[in-house]
This record gives sequence, C-alpha cells and structure tokens, in this order.
Amino acid sequence: MIRYEDLKEASKKVEKENWIFRSFLKEQDSEKLDGIVHKLHDELFKHMDCVSCCNCCRKVSPALNQEDIDRISKHLKISEEEFKSRYLEVDEGGDLLIKQKPCSFLCKEGCSIYDIRPDDCKHFPYTDKPEFWTRLINMVELCSVCPVVFEIFERLKDIYGEEFEKYKSQYPDNWI
Ligand code: SF4
Ligand code: SF4
Repeated sequence: MIRYEDLKEASKKVEKENWIFRSFLKEQDSEKLDGIVHKLHDELFKHMDCVSCCNCCRKVSPALNQEDIDRISKHLKISEEEFKSRYLEVDEGGDLLIKQKPCSFLCKEGCSIYDIRPDDCKHFPYTDKPEFWTRLINMVELCSVCPVVFEIFERLKDIYGEEFEKYKSQYPDNWI
C-alpha cells in the first residue's frame, strides 16, 4: 500500500489518466463496478492502519449532522451553540463542517473523540457504499488524500486492463 506521504507526487503523475478513467468507469456496468470496489475496499482496509495515517483528518473537513453535534457537544460539556461557534462553519451548500484543517480533534495519537466521531468520519471514504459511479469526481480528488482510494483506482485500472487501454488510446499521447 502506498504511504500517505507519497500520495501527492504519485497522484499528480496519474491525475490526467484518472480523469480519463473516470469517464471510462461511468460507462461500465454499475453493479459489477460496485462489486469489485467493495471487494477491494474490504481487502485494502484489512491491511490499512488508519490511525497511523489520519490523512483525511488533515485534508478533508467532515460534515456533521444534528446527532453528531448533540453527542460531541455533550461529551465536551459545552452547549450546542458554543460547539458550533468554536468548531464548525457553514459551507455554500448549507452543511456544517469542521472548520479547522487539520481537524481540531486530531492529536498525536489520532482522533481524540474516536468513539464518538462524526458519522461522516466513520464512513469515509465511502468505498463500501453502493453507486460508486455517482461519486467518481470526488474519488479522483481523494486519490491525493487517501491511500486506499488511490490503490482502488490503480487496481481497477489493472482489472479493466485492455478495455481501458483501448478507451485511453482515443486520447492524444501528449494529453496523458
Ligand atoms: S473528528 Fe476525528 S476522525 Fe473526524 S476528522 Fe476529526 S480527528 Fe479525524
Ligand atoms: S480513510 Fe484513508 S485517508 Fe483516512 S486514515 Fe484511513 S487510509 Fe488514511
């Protein structure tokens, strides 16, 4: 598995190819794609120690729902209003996100509120959810953040092999 420290450079090298791959994947059978991705998710996370990575906690702002806010503010023994003003901001879509990057709850040992962390953190990077094809833009972007997402893309390219090579060949060499 690639180390998160090497992701920035490695993902840059395959960025254009990944955008072509995204278009290719959009045209594939969605159920078959989900089946492959879910299997890769299980295999890769079995060998991934997220606590030693925590790159998503540095680079991505999780969205919090009302239950997260109730649970975490209660745990911190502060009011919902204080919790919101200290830790959250509203994005353009109206979602409440943790405003600090790296996340305010990230400490040397990992997440300081791990057992009660937001649902969004629990489910990140959503590679075990159905309809992977609907999240492809986000997934291409996450190739520079999450080692597992990066590996899923690289392994998918091997799995679709010749089919993808043929698809890719319609793009000029200097574009890739
Ligand atoms: S709440 Fe915890 S798991 Fe979620 S981003 Fe912050 S440190 Fe990471
Ligand atoms: S979900 Fe991905 S980015 Fe987050 S800690 Fe695990 S491997 Fe690292």
